[in-house]
Amino acid sequence: MRTKLLLSADALDLGLRAATPVVGELQAYLSRFGWLRLPGQERVVAAHETLPNAQPGHFDDATEAAVVDFQRFYRLPVTGRLNPETLALMRRPRCGVPDKPAAFPGGPANFVAASTKWSNLRPGYMLSAGTADLSDASVYGALFNAYRSWCLVAQIAAHRVSSGADIDVRFATGDHGDGATNAFDGVGSILAHGFYPPPNGGDLAGDLHFDDAETWTRDLPPTGTDLDTVALHEAGHTLGLDHSDVASAVMYAFYGGARRTLTDDDIAGIRSVYGTRERNLVTNFDATVEGEGPFAGKGYFFYGSRYLRYDYSDDLPDPGYPKSIAAEWHDLPANFTTGIDAAFSGQNAFAGKLYIFKGDRYVRYDWATDKTDPGYPKSIAAEWHDLPADFTTGIDAAVTGKGPFAGKAYLFKGSQYIRYDWATDKTDPGYPKSIAAMWPGLPAGFTSGIQAAMNGQKGFEGKLYLFKGADYARYDWAADHGDPGYPLPIAFNWL
Ligand SMILES: [Zn+2]
Ligand SMILES: [Zn+2]
Repeated sequence: MRTKLLLSADALDLGLRAATPVVGELQAYLSRFGWLRLPGQERVVAAHETLPNAQPGHFDDATEAAVVDFQRFYRLPVTGRLNPETLALMRRPRCGVPDKPAAFPGGPANFVAASTKWSNLRPGYMLSAGTADLSDASVYGALFNAYRSWCLVAQIAAHRVSSGADIDVRFATGDHGDGATNAFDGVGSILAHGFYPPPNGGDLAGDLHFDDAETWTRDLPPTGTDLDTVALHEAGHTLGLDHSDVASAVMYAFYGGARRTLTDDDIAGIRSVYGTRERNLVTNFDATVEGEGPFAGKGYFFYGSRYLRYDYSDDLPDPGYPKSIAAEWHDLPANFTTGIDAAFSGQNAFAGKLYIFKGDRYVRYDWATDKTDPGYPKSIAAEWHDLPADFTTGIDAAVTGKGPFAGKAYLFKGSQYIRYDWATDKTDPGYPKSIAAMWPGLPAGFTSGIQAAMNGQKGFEGKLYLFKGADYARYDWAADHGDPGYPLPIAFNWL
């Protein structure tokens, strides 16, 4: 199958009854991408039998009808002729997945959903053959960004696995085992293809292949073919989307440089398949805390009178949030249902309890019964022993220690912190101390005014997350050091 198309045909205007060699190239292109069928041609789209049936080498009525369909779908002037504008689009590098004209979009959204979707809503992806252009770690970076982009807006949770992948990702050249029609074509033209979710396509269902003849890069502006852009598009196919006719959409078939952000059309498309996961782009959290007992594996983000919940297993925010603190956290005193200062869980004799601080008072919440213990709020100064005076009138953030620091709690205020011992139920001597001096490796902005702190769980066990403004930093309890590469934005990485 020839897919290096029409490269010789410059300014021209071919129509009905033309019979130059370019007509054959035009028909090869239209049949390759699902707009036309030729005698004996392999099926490329489900609607194969309904496609116009052309005579090779002749610009006949069927060829004209296919050109009209192509022009209509791609919003070109509908002339039925191979004119310079149509040719210019056909010559652009593109995705190898056929366009499926049978499913013409209509209405305000123009995405097209494929006929299959994942029934396993946590499909795993794995790179089984990389490229010399980039390290495997870098390719995984692009795949992570691509799948996370889709999963942040819809209720699907694709994630990286190290075996038993649903979505097998590989780089290949030429005919690479999925049929002559799907053979890659050297530099340019077809860049990649993604297969729809099962049962479509048998063993290949859900798989993603990149043409390794391209020069794949990740820098901006791109110096080669931008892997992040193509991965985002092909990931859309592997999750069940077809090509969109919206020229700015990620699911538009043609490559035009870096395009790493989903458009409204793409988002409407993936939500039509899996349902909505709302983005809640909140910053400046009042408090955060990891769940325990029946709520283990969840992270809670409090702001004002509302909160969000994060799922550490999916590494995605749970759908259906924000919710009201007053409605969901039972028996809290009224002034603890908005603008809390800090939240952290107890250990030792206090395990299973959540402490919520606000101003000079605190309440104790029981994770197992999911309600506030009776008798609260109480005075911080009276119940938390040996705290420095200015820590008894309000703190910024708090977290319970993990790993080598289990059995301790850390309370932050301004540029200082204290360490509390759960076993003796009092502040360790020698505190407060300087955050900057005692928490090595934290980004400069995180040595004072920390707004919230929370422990990782599941795959993120042993990590401490500190939130400030729109950013967060990560601290490793075992190494007793801030992880490199931070701060990062909360948006995209969490919400
Ligand atoms: Zn595509
Ligand atoms: Zn392939």
